[in-house]
Amino acid sequence: MVLDDLGSSLRGTLDDLRGKSRISEEDIEDVVKEIQRSLLQADVDVSLVQELSQNIKSRALDEEPPAGTTPRDWVLRIVYEELVDLVGESTDIPLEEQTIMLAGLYGSGKTTTAAKMAWWFSTKGLRPAIIQTDTDRPGAYDQAKEMADRAEVEFYGDPDEDDPVKIAREGLGATQDADVRIVDTAGRDGLNEELIEQIERIEAEVNPDRNLLVLDAAMGQSAKSQAADFQEAIGIDGVVITKLDGTAKGGGALAAVDETDSTIAFLGSGETVKDIERFEPSGFISRLLGMGDLKQLTERVERAMEETGEDEEDWDPEDMLEGQFTLKDMRKQMETMNNMGPLDQVMDMIPGLGGGLMDQLPDNAMDVTQERMRDFEVIMESMTEEELENPRVVGQSRTERIARGSGKPEERIRELLQQHKQMEQMLKQFQGMGDGDMERMMKQMQQ
Ligand code: GDP
Repeated sequence: MVLDDLGSSLRGTLDDLRGKSRISEEDIEDVVKEIQRSLLQADVDVSLVQELSQNIKSRALDEEPPAGTTPRDWVLRIVYEELVDLVGESTDIPLEEQTIMLAGLYGSGKTTTAAKMAWWFSTKGLRPAIIQTDTDRPGAYDQAKEMADRAEVEFYGDPDEDDPVKIAREGLGATQDADVRIVDTAGRDGLNEELIEQIERIEAEVNPDRNLLVLDAAMGQSAKSQAADFQEAIGIDGVVITKLDGTAKGGGALAAVDETDSTIAFLGSGETVKDIERFEPSGFISRLLGMGDLKQLTERVERAMEETGEDEEDWDPEDMLEGQFTLKDMRKQMETMNNMGPLDQVMDMIPGLGGGLMDQLPDNAMDVTQERMRDFEVIMESMTEEELENPRVVGQSRTERIARGSGKPEERIRELLQQHKQMEQMLKQFQGMGDGDMERMMKQMQQ
């Protein structure tokens, strides 16, 4: 894993802050030094490291920690936020019809990534196809075909043709029915003019919606100049970092992201088609720093912030009452209920609510059985951010797509949407209640 030892070394340094009531400049220096050491070891570009260090120092010294937060927690939170900022957002990959071209050097993991991405899109209910245009490497066709078979996705290639542009053209024609076309290209040991010229010609033929640069995590600093060359030739929209299972590096990829002004799209961490995940900055950094610890910490700081009312972006029961009850909120509530027992019993515990309100709801409104909850979880995995935030956009065609992706019947998806609507309605009914009641109830629900 990238920056493998950052979590443990940083924890050691931060532990020195335990029991201190104020953070001195010296304390911060120590923390920053530790981070610098880890980042540089992981091949992160010096200028990026310097920028990050500066931000951490000035924030830790200038900003006031919220009351009730220990200096240690506060500093760790700043470090976490700045690291999330350093790795950047995730590349936007909409779940819609599109053509994606993969570029990268030989052995970076393009062919494997093409199959992994195709598999990923298929789990989202889209129909992907791989077009293999690598005519240089003997065995590329067989390898790509075999991986496409394993991913159970459509494949086009032509082992007897040696013009990649022609294969690309014919591949586009042959995969008309697919929603997402992933075009794999040839790589060489190093970037040379011939490769650049070839990829430019394929790009012109394919006219992709996005170009992703595939980089081996162990690549190191040369990733930067490589990225610059690909950027100049075809433009890079996002980076895929592969082989994260086998290296403690990966920082070079960050330099490539910076160089191309792009973002990270996917992470690869193994040789099978399922060893892929969408890059998600906060989860990535949490893992880097040791998730369990960090989760507790973030919760502690968040609680302190809630108490002092500082973090306005946090989940707020009031938002739900203003009609912003999303599917994500619903998932949170389902988890809470799962830990707590049926919601109607909880309602009964709240003075003034009890039976009256529950009687107005359909009998099954609160009937979230374990099995349905598991199905709902799987279904939500196949939904986009937009759909989770605003389930009203899910019409028939999206329902069909989600059903394909999750492998659940359309009926189940409609049930989920229905359940969401009912819970939303119920929450709206609380609007008449006093603020105090509301807060008490929400606290009770969240415990
Ligand atoms: P290409 O030349 O860019 O198409 O690279 P390939 O897809 O053929 O990958 C080169 C080698 O790296 C193959 O042996 C793959 O199995 C391996 N590989 C690709 N991605 C990963 C990964 O995420 N983890 C590991 N451990 N190996 C990978």
